[in-house]
Amino acid sequence: MHKVLVIGTGPAGLTAAIYLARALLEPIVIEGKQPGGQLTTTTEVDNFPGFPKGILGPELIEAMKDQAKRFGAKFLNGWVKKVDLSSRPFKVILENSEVLKSESIIVSTGASPKFLNIPGESQKLGQGVSTCATCDGFFYKDKQVIVVGGGDSAMEEANFLTRFAKKVTIVHRRFDFRASKIMQKKAKDNPKIEFVLNKTPISVEIKEEKVIGLKVKDNASGEEDLVFADGIFIAIGHVPNTSFLEGQLKTDKQGYIWVEPGTTKTSIEGVFACGDVQDPIYRQAITAAGTGCMAALDCERYLENISV
Ligand code: NAP
Repeated sequence: MHKVLVIGTGPAGLTAAIYLARALLEPIVIEGKQPGGQLTTTTEVDNFPGFPKGILGPELIEAMKDQAKRFGAKFLNGWVKKVDLSSRPFKVILENSEVLKSESIIVSTGASPKFLNIPGESQKLGQGVSTCATCDGFFYKDKQVIVVGGGDSAMEEANFLTRFAKKVTIVHRRFDFRASKIMQKKAKDNPKIEFVLNKTPISVEIKEEKVIGLKVKDNASGEEDLVFADGIFIAIGHVPNTSFLEGQLKTDKQGYIWVEPGTTKTSIEGVFACGDVQDPIYRQAITAAGTGCMAALDCERYLENISV
């Protein structure tokens, strides 16, 4: 029987673990199949405060993990298959059928970017293909880039990338955009942004190990074309990692875990959510870490109250 289980080891879960361990709550942190989360798929992290020269994503995660271990957090290599939140103690069932029981749970399982699933995409992820303009835009100074998508993320990322790139091409599979009118206007008014519309991405084109563009197919004529670029940003949405919850926690329309505004409290008392799994808007390592700290403090107060 544990006091608290943390599910997920991105910056949110690790920050929660540091705070919980320092509060002597002996957290058990379940690492998952991609320990460290999305930060482990980026290279240089230049926007996490405290690292003026930048830090590699995996190094930042390793440092957070060491910090949590230093205060007694225990890490468990396992994959959560499902949870039972219907009675107390809560139960967490791992893939190997092991059942962990806990008085409280912090869910920090993050969100996964959606991919196009086309040839060349996974091969060049982190080396010409990216899912995060905020993280990788800086590497495309005076270069040409493509942003794939027609939602607010695509418009926002395209605008952001014009700070660095000399040309940004938005490739979208329809003529109409899902993005809000104001975000569309901002992109359309930006002289550095061009649009390639009603075209479906077919493959990431690579020459001598380098990304050279995106092959697209016109949805009306079926004609194929190559849009040249040094980098391709995929901005077609994210999926919060919540399938293991099987609908036991309230979510918003997009499936992100609902939390009481200004807190990390979910619809079930004693279960807290932090990081990207409850954040469709900011999705930054530092905001995830911030909500991880909030979850630990909310959890600490909850455990104090139930033990009185
Ligand atoms: P989104 O609204 O779901 O848009 C995803 C876009 O990607 C759509 O245009 C979609 O095309 C396209 N797409 C999806 N799968 C594709 C595929 N396999 N191949 C090609 N294109 C594909 O996602 P989002 O832009 O990430 O936004 C998510 C949420 O966050 C939204 O509620 C948004 O308003 C919000 N957000 C807000 C802000 C802001 O206010 N500053 C910034 C970013 C995001 P179709 O349209 O054809 O389906």
